[in-house]
Amino acid sequence: MIKTIKDFNLKNKKVIIRVDFNVPIKDGVITDDNRIVSSLKTIRYAIDGCAKVILMSHLGRVKEESDKDKYSLRIVAKRLSELIGKEVIFSSETRGKELEEKINNLNNSDVLLMENTRFEDLNGKLESSNDKDLGKYWASLGDIFINDAFGTSHRAHTSNVGIASNLPSGIGFLVEEELNKLSLAINNPKRPYAVILGGSKVSDKIGVIKNLARICDYILIGGGMAYTFLSAKGYNIGLSLLDEDSIDFCKEMLDKYSDKIILPIDSIVSKSIDGDASEKDNNSFDKDDIGLDIGSKTIDKFKDILKNCELIVWNGPLGMFEVEKYSNGTKEMLKYLSNLKKSVIIGGGDTASAAINFGYKDKFTHISTGGGASLELLEGKVLPGIDIIDDK
Ligand code: AMP
Repeated sequence: MIKTIKDFNLKNKKVIIRVDFNVPIKDGVITDDNRIVSSLKTIRYAIDGCAKVILMSHLGRVKEESDKDKYSLRIVAKRLSELIGKEVIFSSETRGKELEEKINNLNNSDVLLMENTRFEDLNGKLESSNDKDLGKYWASLGDIFINDAFGTSHRAHTSNVGIASNLPSGIGFLVEEELNKLSLAINNPKRPYAVILGGSKVSDKIGVIKNLARICDYILIGGGMAYTFLSAKGYNIGLSLLDEDSIDFCKEMLDKYSDKIILPIDSIVSKSIDGDASEKDNNSFDKDDIGLDIGSKTIDKFKDILKNCELIVWNGPLGMFEVEKYSNGTKEMLKYLSNLKKSVIIGGGDTASAAINFGYKDKFTHISTGGGASLELLEGKVLPGIDIIDDK
């Protein structure tokens, strides 16, 4: 069993917590603070446990010196301070005297946020390449390391694997919740069990399809990736998304799992994204039609299968949901699943944003905070940021 923050006595200890504060910022304003809010349980637990709390996170991708302004965590320190109702000390350095002094001056229950870990990427990708020396240095600043950044746990970076290699370690409440909930999809799942997959590229989902097709009872495929499957079956898909390199894979899956894989029977199509949209069956696409959402017959077919399922796992939007007229399939599915009163797990990334933005934040068993990380777990992979954490 993996260690959690509850397995440590935090009093008087400098506890480094890797959080995921990679929030969207527009014109200097945080437009969605969900990720900060999701970290509060662990941060509050450490404060209440009289730890000296040291928070580390990345924000965006820092490629050149001028990115530093755009991706400073200073604004996040301010928001966090409002949320926890106490001052958050900010270190504008990711190494050196200022950081060390501020940490050494921390009292029990104080909270410090270090500047963006990816500022270290400017001189040789020291954060993203899991640099050994930087890992030792950051670890030397604390006594205990807690990983509560699920969204980066599929990457071996210095701020997770590098520090954990050098300190006693555990996971925080957010990561614990993610692992518990996502394991429902893999270990002894309730049945009937359906997986809904969408999004743009088959190639991104090959690992998930391979792993979950073995385990689940149905795979319902929508979104742009459905058209590569339809093309593999010989349909004319017009100018819809086609992932040519994955056609053979689709054929193989359709052969092997013909009874499990359910494809759309109709689509909302248009000649261009801004053009007029209409609903067409699979066999009536013009050669310049683009399929941009699942159609109403498909929605009914999917609902008919899902109504008998006990567990549903969904990753990838069913259409180009960012554009209102192609969002119906995704919205209808969210509405239907939210009323189904069955276990529903929503993978991270676009599906999670759609669920939250369309008003379904608290309506499911779980909405993952990690796109890539949840996908890799569903593929059956071991996440390096979790694997490195101590066992009990
Ligand atoms: P992914 O990152 O692979 O999960 O794909 C998410 C993206 O797929 C979203 O930006 C959607 O707009 C896009 N998408 C979903 N369905 C379609 C479609 N039929 N045609 C083009 N893009 C789509």
